[in-house]
Amino acid sequence: MNLDEPKPEETVAAQDAIGPLATLPLAFRVAGRTAVIAGGGDGAAWKAELLVAAGASVVVFATKPSRKLIELAARRPAVRLEPRAWRPDDLTGASLAILEAEDQNEARAFRAAAQAAGAPVNVVDKPEFCDFSFATLVNRSPLVVAVATDGASPVFGQAIRARIEALLPASFADWAAAARDWRRRLAPLGLDFRQRRHFWERFVDLALASGERAPEPEDFRRLADAEADSAVPKTGRILLVGGGPGDPDLLTLKAVRALQTADVVLYDDLAPPRVLEMARREARRIDVGKRGGRESTSQAEISALAVALALEGKTVVRLKGGDPSVFGRANEEIAAARAAGVPIAIVPGVTAATAAAAELGVSLSDRLLARRVQFVTARGQDGRLPQGLQWAAMVDPDVTTCVYMGVRALPELTARLIAEGLDGDTPAVVVENVSLAGSRRFAAPIRLLPERVAEARPTGPCLLIYGRALAGAAA
Ligand code: SAH
Repeated sequence: MNLDEPKPEETVAAQDAIGPLATLPLAFRVAGRTAVIAGGGDGAAWKAELLVAAGASVVVFATKPSRKLIELAARRPAVRLEPRAWRPDDLTGASLAILEAEDQNEARAFRAAAQAAGAPVNVVDKPEFCDFSFATLVNRSPLVVAVATDGASPVFGQAIRARIEALLPASFADWAAAARDWRRRLAPLGLDFRQRRHFWERFVDLALASGERAPEPEDFRRLADAEADSAVPKTGRILLVGGGPGDPDLLTLKAVRALQTADVVLYDDLAPPRVLEMARREARRIDVGKRGGRESTSQAEISALAVALALEGKTVVRLKGGDPSVFGRANEEIAAARAAGVPIAIVPGVTAATAAAAELGVSLSDRLLARRVQFVTARGQDGRLPQGLQWAAMVDPDVTTCVYMGVRALPELTARLIAEGLDGDTPAVVVENVSLAGSRRFAAPIRLLPERVAEARPTGPCLLIYGRALAGAAA
């Protein structure tokens, strides 16, 4: 029985030909069956615990059981401790046989006895005697992910497990359990093959997008109703996703999940290719940045496009550089979505200023030198220095100032800052291409910085940071 083989209506992509496998991972049901363990160490205790979690009854033969094993047997009625050495006939009827022992002869004898009884064998830490090994687990039961390296490197396997662990919200256990329940409830509804397949696709989208909560009965009704009455208009949604400064390692887990549920990704020049690669393979990617020398798509056009796609029922990811709420014009997209009744949510990201601080190895705030940190944009609507900058705040010596979109107006900006009273020796840095290959930094007292930057002719995005707390970075 292939419980987890996709049913035809759930198959999304054709499977590629399978390369060689060191082992065949199987999901083995042991509930209600008996496993025999011989040996009394902590390895035996751990295997017993795992088997009991999977519903097996476990008999452990041990002349000297460890404290852990004794405690386990006291705690778990499904574990029976036999205070004697194992005998070959103990293995009769066992569904799995496990030995923890140092002695090679004992291992050989145990393996022979288990084989005679028809039980697959595992000898702890002796792969040459094993029919099977225990994989490292990510437990979202009934969803279980197993990582196995055939003994090549258990530590590597555990590191991979940790990564997968971080990617799968705890609630996936509830979603997987709901799927089992809903499969039963779907059967009598009389949906055809295509509708069932569509139901499960939408179930997956919903589960992947709703990691922070468990499924609700309402979810089943909505998914099922949408299939039963395909005339019901579906509304998608918009996610304003912070893509960070460029390095995909700086994406949040939530951003990765959003990208992997997207039907459409709207991106612009600030979205680095390696971040875009994290999007679901089937997602349509639309460049709303500069096109072949033409002007960028206007903000109003982008908002309208996102809304139109969401109204078609699509999950639209509007991928932004850095954090969407920092100079990302997010309010305009939020207003457009709300006006059209389209759900919209923000997924925060690492903004250029904090990523630059990390790269420079400095803190933006400082207990003595900078009790305030401010993010400022130095580009007004016409591309020049904006009107209405609060110059008193801009030249406050106790502040670290991060200037976004500030290089073009750098000479004008620094001249004005010094004229308004900023010390010309204030440490200042321009960082180009933060977190990306080809990142450069130009550090100088602020009065000399425009000259330094002009010589270097940066072409990537640049962030200016100045203030006394930057002394370490300017060195
Ligand atoms: N929402 C973005 C900022 C958008 S405004 C964020 O939170 O980072 C665009 C400006 O951000 C650029 O002109 C530049 O000043 C800064 N910026 C964005 N990514 C950057 C990067 N990788 N390196 C340096 N500056 C960057």
